[in-house]
Amino acid sequence: MTFQQLGVIDPILRALSAEGYTNPTPIQEQSIPILLRGKDLLGCAQTGTGKTAAFAIPILQHLYLKHQNKQNHRDHRKIKALIVTPTRELAIQIGESFSVYGKHTGIKNTVIFGGVKQGAQTKILDRGVDVLVATPGRLLDLIGQGFISLKDVEYSVLDEADRMLDMGFIHDIRKLIALLPPKRQSLFFSATMPPDIVALSRKILGNPEKVSVTPDQTTAEKVEQAVYFVSKPGKTKLLIHLLNTLAMESVLVFSRTKHGANKIVKLLDRGGISAEAIHSNKSQTARQRALGNFKSGETKVLVATDIAARGIDIDELSHVVNYDLPNISETYVHRIGRTGRAGFSGIALSFCDEEEKAYLRDIEKLIKQKIKVISEHPFLNYKPEVAAKDAAVPYGLRKKSKPANSGGGGSRPKRRRPSGRKTP
Ligand code: AMP
Repeated sequence: MTFQQLGVIDPILRALSAEGYTNPTPIQEQSIPILLRGKDLLGCAQTGTGKTAAFAIPILQHLYLKHQNKQNHRDHRKIKALIVTPTRELAIQIGESFSVYGKHTGIKNTVIFGGVKQGAQTKILDRGVDVLVATPGRLLDLIGQGFISLKDVEYSVLDEADRMLDMGFIHDIRKLIALLPPKRQSLFFSATMPPDIVALSRKILGNPEKVSVTPDQTTAEKVEQAVYFVSKPGKTKLLIHLLNTLAMESVLVFSRTKHGANKIVKLLDRGGISAEAIHSNKSQTARQRALGNFKSGETKVLVATDIAARGIDIDELSHVVNYDLPNISETYVHRIGRTGRAGFSGIALSFCDEEEKAYLRDIEKLIKQKIKVISEHPFLNYKPEVAAKDAAVPYGLRKKSKPANSGGGGSRPKRRRPSGRKTP
C-alpha cells in the first residue's frame, strides 16, 4: 500500500517522499481513507505508531482543497483545525509535523502551550493561522482573553485522551467541547480505552469509525521485557551495575517522582555515568537541552517522570528502565512503547521491590503475559546498612567482579574493595 493509493494528493505526497516515508504505517493505512471520507474517528494508538501523520495528512488535504476554492477565500487564516494534546513537547512535535507534511500546501499552523509568556503566541495568532495545536490550559486562557475563537473549527483532534485524563484535564476538555461548533469532523486518539475514556469519546464523536493498533501487540511483539526483584535501596546500585555490564546505548529511565529523578541522576553521575533528568520543575529550555544532549549521544541516560516523558520523540532508544513500577498498568505499556519503535527491537527492564509486586501482577494481567524474571544479579537482597559501609565507593567505580551467585534467592555480593584505588 502506498500513500498515493490511499488517495493522498500530490503536494502532500511530495513532502512525505522528501521525509523518506515510503509506505503508510498501519494506523495511517486504516485512518486516512476514513478521514478523507469525512467520518469521525476513534483511534486506539500510542505515540510512535505514526498517528500524527494519520490525522495531519487528511486535515491538510481537506484544508488545501478548500483553500483552492476562491469562494472560501475569506475564510483564509481562521482557525479551522484544532488539535488538543496534553504536553508542550507533544504540541511542538505535532506542530512540526504539520509544517513538514504541509510545506507545499501554504497552510499555516501554530503551537500554543503554557509555562512561557503568551506575547509571542498571541502575535502569531493575530496574523491568523489555519491549524492550531494547543495544550488545554493555555488554550482556554487565550480563549478567555479573546485571542482565540473556535467558531470556525471544522476539524477537532483530541490527542492522547487517556494522558489528558491522567493529568487532570477533564474539566478543561469538557469546557472546550462545549465551545466547538456542533458541525465538525472529530478525531479522538488514546493509547488505552478504559471506560471513562470511552464515555468521553461518546460525548465528542458522532457515530465514529474505529481503528486500533493495540498496544499490547506492539509490546509483545517488539519489546523484550524482563524484571529484576530488588530491594528499594539496591535499585541505584543495580542500575549502575546494568549500565556497566550490559550493552545499553541510550537508556530512558522512569522515576515516579521528580525528586527521585534528580537523585538517580546524582548517583549515576557519581558512578561516572552521564545522565540528565527531565521533569516539570525543569524549565522548557533545560528540558529541550537535556533531550538534545540525549539524542546526540552526549548523555547516555535520560531520567524522566511519566508526565515529562510523554510525547518525547526518540526513535532509537535501546532500553527503557522502569526504576519504579507504575501503579497504573497502562503507564507501563506507554513507557515500554518508547523503545521498539519504527522497527527497532527494544528492551524494557523493570525494577520491582517488595511493595511493587502487586503492580507487577496488574501489569502482567494487562499485557496478558508473564515478564521474564532475572534473578542472577548482585542486589537481590541488598541492605542499606551494607550500603552505608560501602558508600564511599560507588559500585560502578569498583573493579568489575563476577556477580555473586544468587543461587535460589538472596546471597549478597562479596564486597571487595579494589586495592590501591582511592575513594573519589
Ligand atoms: P508518531 O506516532 O506520530 O509520534 O510518529 C512516530 C515516528 O514515526 C515519527 O518520528 C514520524 O516521523 C515517523 N513516521 C510516521 N509515519 C511514518 C511513515 N509512514 N514512514 C516512516 N516514518 C514515519
